[in-house]
Amino acid sequence: MCVFCEIINGNIPSTKVYEDDKMLAFKDLNPVAPVHFLCVPKKHIENVNEITPDNSEYVAHIFSKIPEIAKSQGIESYRVINNCGADAGQTVMHLHFHVIGGTQLGEKLI
Ligand code: 5GP
Ligand code: ZN
Repeated sequence: MCVFCEIINGNIPSTKVYEDDKMLAFKDLNPVAPVHFLCVPKKHIENVNEITPDNSEYVAHIFSKIPEIAKSQGIESYRVINNCGADAGQTVMHLHFHVIGGTQLGEKLI
């Protein structure tokens, strides 16, 4: 089972910032900014390449919740990042969206 499925199941501890029946948001272990949390679907979808009409409700749900979760963490300006595939820097093969903020972010993406 992948590390984020283990976190969802509670087998690996995490600092949760939001949870419901479809998603979990928790603080990144190695934050790159004062606010850095990850939003994951409670369904093992490997990455963006595996999003289909049948599972896209999870993705829509995550994005519908990001504003309020961000606000709960004290930010209304932030960057949402997804790495899809190893060459793009994806290290955990369970779809996740980084939400990063709490400081002036640089403009460079690569
Ligand atoms: P990726 O590089 O796949 O886009 O992002 C994976 C992220 O997951 C990294 O930022 C990494 O710090 C985070 N991460 C990996 N393992 C764990 C873990 O066990 N707990 C938490 N909270 N974050 C993790
Ligand atoms: Zn998983």
